Amino acid sequence: MTKGILINYEFCTGCHSCEVACKKELGLDFGEFGIKLEQVGPYKYQTGDLSEKWEWTYLPVLTKACTMCEDRVKTGKMPACVQHCQAWCMYFGDVEDLARKIDGSSRCALMTGAVTS
Ligand code: SF4
Ligand code: SF4
Repeated sequence: MTKGILINYEFCTGCHSCEVACKKELGLDFGEFGIKLEQVGPYKYQTGDLSEKWEWTYLPVLTKACTMCEDRVKTGKMPACVQHCQAWCMYFGDVEDLARKIDGSSRCALMTGAVTS
């Protein structure tokens, strides 16, 4: 079953804790990332009714260095980034189960790694 990480980025505060936890877990150097927080915006846009909105979003993105915390997961722990998320907006599990959590009430990103079991 393919494992993944679901991020409900509607609630991401941009705190960088996931980045820091991952760097510690993987022993990464300055400038290296297993997960990288991206900031989208701020910029203004129009919706269908021509009202103006602002976009200013944070979205952490898995890099190819991400191992899905295979060693931690094997011992029953959550991935380090998920465990240390300050907003509790990250979830780890089988992608099918994670996909079922997406109900359209907020914006989510489902990302996969290479670990399967
Ligand atoms: S799952 Fe582990 S390796 Fe992947 S981004 Fe999260 S902390 Fe880093
Ligand atoms: S730890 Fe959670 S709230 Fe903080 S930047 Fe990462 S996903 Fe967002």
